[in-house]
Amino acid sequence: MIEAENLTKRYGDKTAVDDLSFTVVPGRVTGFLGPNGAGKSTTMRLLLGLDRPDRGDARIHGRHYRDLDAPLRVVGALLEARSVHTGRSAYNHLLCLAQTQGIGKRRVDEVIDLVGLTAPARKRVGAFSLGMGQRLGIAAALLGDPSVLILDEPVNGLDPEGIVWIRTLMQRLAAEGRTVLVSSHLMNEMAVTAEHLIVIGRGRLIADCSTEEFIERSTEKTVTVRSPDAARLTDVVAAAGGKVAPGGEGADDLITVTNMEAPRVGELAAAEGIVLHELTPSRGSLESAFMELTRESVEYGTAAGAVPGPVPAAGDAPVPGPVPGAVPGAATGQEGET
Ligand code: ADP
Repeated sequence: MIEAENLTKRYGDKTAVDDLSFTVVPGRVTGFLGPNGAGKSTTMRLLLGLDRPDRGDARIHGRHYRDLDAPLRVVGALLEARSVHTGRSAYNHLLCLAQTQGIGKRRVDEVIDLVGLTAPARKRVGAFSLGMGQRLGIAAALLGDPSVLILDEPVNGLDPEGIVWIRTLMQRLAAEGRTVLVSSHLMNEMAVTAEHLIVIGRGRLIADCSTEEFIERSTEKTVTVRSPDAARLTDVVAAAGGKVAPGGEGADDLITVTNMEAPRVGELAAAEGIVLHELTPSRGSLESAFMELTRESVEYGTAAGAVPGPVPAAGDAPVPGPVPGAVPGAATGQEGET
């Protein structure tokens, strides 16, 4: 397993990672989520011993990365930066890596097949697309058949088929009993990939809980109701504790109910003999709930990770609902975006 204990990393007067503690256990995909600049890559570099923490400790299977005897056989990592000799073929790149750790040629062929690079394996890496580069990075991570995988934004640059492929691969590797930590700034992607989430903002822990719990707590349930007697239903629902708003679209038979589940709305209507034409439970957008939760952590925007429009000042956005394992007031600190 992976353990971070009070990890803190400063760059000058910036605190990139701020007293961060979490544990990543085997057997499930753990999503490491946060807007751009939240400190995900820095944390991963600290876990991999590529940077030294100012405070705290990072351990893999109870040991520091630098103390592992054959690191590739224990931890496979894909970091955002591509560090590949562009004149070399994919096959030779992997073979060189394998030879440093006493890994045989057969395993090189295996991982090339596994990531779907069999055809271009002898081509120069310099001619690879971003997606092929990601596949090569994943092949390198898998070379030593490691029990721990640390992948930084692995779906970047992949086409939809590639995204599904890596999602399936990560879930399979976790099901085999490996520890899989994968970072992303995309909530929707993590929601369908990860069983557990560690969410950070400005280097601090915001939530550490199952994806199901995160969705349950951070998105609001609404019920869309259509009735020819919407006015009376509004009174009945409100009297029973539901919150009712006009359904919009200029339709006076449409209302939106929060703070009450759909079956209860239906029961109240039946008890009063009110006809319903529609009763649809739904949830708020997960992506917008995530943005709301982390928006104090974003000071200036980028295309994918930002809150659209002017970013509010820190302090005016309450965290929507308690998230289990959440740390109150975590999203304070310094600026975002790399
Ligand atoms: P994420 O991976 O979540 O996008 P990073 O870990 O890359 O976030 O960055 C966290 C913060 O630390 C950002 O403000 C970034 O600018 C800063 N940072 C990261 N690496 C360095 C570095 N080598 N020197 C100075 N600042 C850095």
